Amino acid sequence: MNLKPSIDANLPQHLYDGYRAFRAGRLPTEQSRYRELAERGQSPQTMVVGCCDSRVSPEVIFDAGPGELFVVRNVANLVPPYSPDGLYHGVSAALEYGVTVLRVKHLVVLGHARCGGIQAFASNGPTGDFIGKWISLLGPAAASVEAHKQDDDYLKRLEQTSLQRSLENLTTFPFIRGACDRNALALFGAYFDVATGELSVLERDSGRFVTVARD
Ligand SMILES: [Zn+2]
Repeated sequence: MNLKPSIDANLPQHLYDGYRAFRAGRLPTEQSRYRELAERGQSPQTMVVGCCDSRVSPEVIFDAGPGELFVVRNVANLVPPYSPDGLYHGVSAALEYGVTVLRVKHLVVLGHARCGGIQAFASNGPTGDFIGKWISLLGPAAASVEAHKQDDDYLKRLEQTSLQRSLENLTTFPFIRGACDRNALALFGAYFDVATGELSVLERDSGRFVTVARD
């Protein structure tokens, strides 16, 4: 297949502008950090499973610098169950690398309000060749909040229940369960409200999301 006609040598202008701003601003202030990371390699303490949504960037929300977060993003921040079936598993591969090679200490599933993937599932929206199969992972969470389908906060309920389900799925991975059992890894659930910028964190005992204080 000839790719040449579909590859443009020039990036969109806003990416050049952004890169130049990075070279002039952030790079000089973090130059030594980049050099150190290049020489020693990365050793982030924290991994985040987030959504592809352009409004929910983990590095922005947690004000993280280079080398601090190991991030995998996918549609609706879902974690599939452990399934070593020889097929292609991008999220599971990232989890395996983060936990067994980088040995991250904290693993956060970051969900968010107004998630398009969750909305698509709830409204039986467009599914395409891949999205429908992927968001079918929401099925068990949706079944457990079925009784609330007419409630105003149904989507939020589904977003937060799905997040909890993803945390449960994390524990189906033997290397994650093993690391948790050795107290080498802790799991967290966090939920970002796109409109207000509020972050809430899942409380293990109550199963509720508690808003993080602003200061
Ligand atoms: Zn989303």
